[in-house]
Amino acid sequence: MKKTTLSVLLATLICCLPLQAAESPIAIAIHGGAGTIEKSKMTPEREKAYRDKLREALDKGYGVLEKGGSSLDAVVAAINVLEDSPLFNAGKGAVYTYEGRHELDASIMDGKTRQAGAVAGVTRIENPINLARMVMENSPFVMLAGEGAEAFAQARGVPMVDNKVFDTEQRFEQLQKAKEKLKKEQKRDKDYQAAVERLPTPYKMGTVGAVALDRQGNIAAGTSTGGMTAKRYGRIGDSPVIGAGTFADNDSCAVSATGHGEYFIRYNVAADICARVHYKGKSVGEAADEVINQVLLPIGGTGGVIVLDPAGNIAMTFNTKGMYRASRSSSQPARVAIFKDSE
Ligand code: ASP
Repeated sequence: MKKTTLSVLLATLICCLPLQAAESPIAIAIHGGAGTIEKSKMTPEREKAYRDKLREALDKGYGVLEKGGSSLDAVVAAINVLEDSPLFNAGKGAVYTYEGRHELDASIMDGKTRQAGAVAGVTRIENPINLARMVMENSPFVMLAGEGAEAFAQARGVPMVDNKVFDTEQRFEQLQKAKEKLKKEQKRDKDYQAAVERLPTPYKMGTVGAVALDRQGNIAAGTSTGGMTAKRYGRIGDSPVIGAGTFADNDSCAVSATGHGEYFIRYNVAADICARVHYKGKSVGEAADEVINQVLLPIGGTGGVIVLDPAGNIAMTFNTKGMYRASRSSSQPARVAIFKDSE
């Protein structure tokens, strides 16, 4: 064979052999909460701000995976961007409790080991998802709450911040409106519980989360939230509850949920979706649709989930008017969407 022919052959082999096909897939999906999000009620500027922030978080997480980082690192990197933004109900921008402060919940789970960590009702931790990870990796426990969680953080050198760091004007106004509504409802039947039940959905919603698949084939999930506006009595939602708001298992799927937490706890939503994948052989899309639309919707449980399996298949399913969401994988380009019918 002539030398030139040989080099052409070699060059063809090197350039055209599908090198990428040999690489394992990577994928990430994120959410910034579900609810009554309608295009007609959002200014173009506000919509752009949400889309830009979602894209930034997505890129941050995907960048970690592209460099060979772990799914846990990608989940934390993406969630940190959303926690640091006042647009979302987590970290800065978290909703107010009835008493006018912020109590934050977060959890994380590693699909490879089924190790998990969670914090509930923390008030002085800037990025609760990082502390949840610390609980998973540096303690024999799964969930730490309130002052105990903060003492654990302090002992490990995590800086304590003033609760005011999480203040935003918009959430403060939301609290005043929620209190007015609660007062009116309570006059009727004097029952705080029933009045909370009747609060319109926007007061009960908002959370951020991420699920990711790394090159090693490991999946992970994380969720972080300020919970429900005007919550009282140390109320904890589903977000820090493993199996309800967060779940990950390499044998089935990774889930981060957002929605009316009480329903997600009682219906063990994240674990139920993965159980359907695991035991019934459902795809992530089918399993998410069954739980969100066929189980939760008829009983009044509103919200949504992002789901990812170890092959990189993604589902972003919700039964509300919208869910802030974004995804990207080695086989799917970046996609950012907010509304149900029009992306
Ligand atoms: N699930 C959160 C909670 O109930 C709120 C949300 O995701 O919208 O605390």
